[in-house]
Amino acid sequence: MRRLLIAGNWKMNHGPSQSREFGRDLKAKGLQDFSPEILLCPPYVSIQALRESLEGTPVQIGGQNLHQEPKGAYTGEISGEMLKEAGCVYVLIGHSERRQYFHETDDLVHAKILRAHDAGLIPVVCIGETLEERENGITKDVITRQLKGALEGLSPEIMKTLVLAYEPVWAIGTGKTATAGQAQEVHAMIRKILKESFSTEISENTRILYGGSAKPNNAEELLSEADIDGLLIGGASLKTEDFYTIIGIA
Ligand code: PGA
Repeated sequence: MRRLLIAGNWKMNHGPSQSREFGRDLKAKGLQDFSPEILLCPPYVSIQALRESLEGTPVQIGGQNLHQEPKGAYTGEISGEMLKEAGCVYVLIGHSERRQYFHETDDLVHAKILRAHDAGLIPVVCIGETLEERENGITKDVITRQLKGALEGLSPEIMKTLVLAYEPVWAIGTGKTATAGQAQEVHAMIRKILKESFSTEISENTRILYGGSAKPNNAEELLSEADIDGLLIGGASLKTEDFYTIIGIA
C-alpha cells in the first residue's frame, strides 16, 4: 500500500527565523497522531533552523534542488551530500521553475536523480505540461518524454523509493487547480507508463503526488482519487494553519 506523502515546497520563502517560528507553531499543534508522511522543503539556509524547531516530530526535511556533481568548483551550488549532512531525507528534482528559469533538461534531471540516490536522498521528481502543451493536446507526449528522459535506465533499487510529482505548470501558483478528474487521468497514465517501462510492482508501489494550487479546500477531493498519493504544496504550505489543515485532511 502506498503511504500518503504531504510535502511543502517553500521555494524562495521563509528565512531561518521565519522557518523556526513556523516549526514551533506546527510542533505546538501536535503532529503525532497523523498517518501521512510529512515533508517540508525550505530554502537551504533555513534547513537547520526548521529541522531543530521540529525535532521530536515526524516531519522530514528535504532540499529543493541539488547539483549533479558531489563537490567541486561550482560557485553557488549545493551537493546532495551536503543536504544529507544537514538532515535532509528527500530532495525535489526537476521542478518546473528549475526547468523554466534554470534551463534544466530531462538529461540533467536524470543525472540529478542518480546523484541524489548516491548521496542517500530520496528524489521527488517533478513533471508536468504547460498550458500551451495541454491546449495543443500533447499532454501525454510531454509526460511520456519527461518520464522516459528522467527515469530510463534507473535501477529497480532507485525506482523503489523514488517519488513522482505531477504538477501541471498552468496550475502552479495560479490558483487554477487541475480538477481531481483531470489530475487522476494523468496520474493513471503515469502509472501505465511505469508499468510498461519497469514492472507492475514498481507501477503499483510508486507514489505519485499532485501539485499545483493544492489548498485546504481542494485537498480532500484530490486525495480521494485512486492514483493520487499525496500533494506537493507551494503557496498553501507557507502558513502553518493551511499546511496543518491539509495534513489533517490527508
Ligand atoms: P502552488 O505550487 O501550490 O503554489 O501552486 C506548487 C509547486 O510549485 O510545487
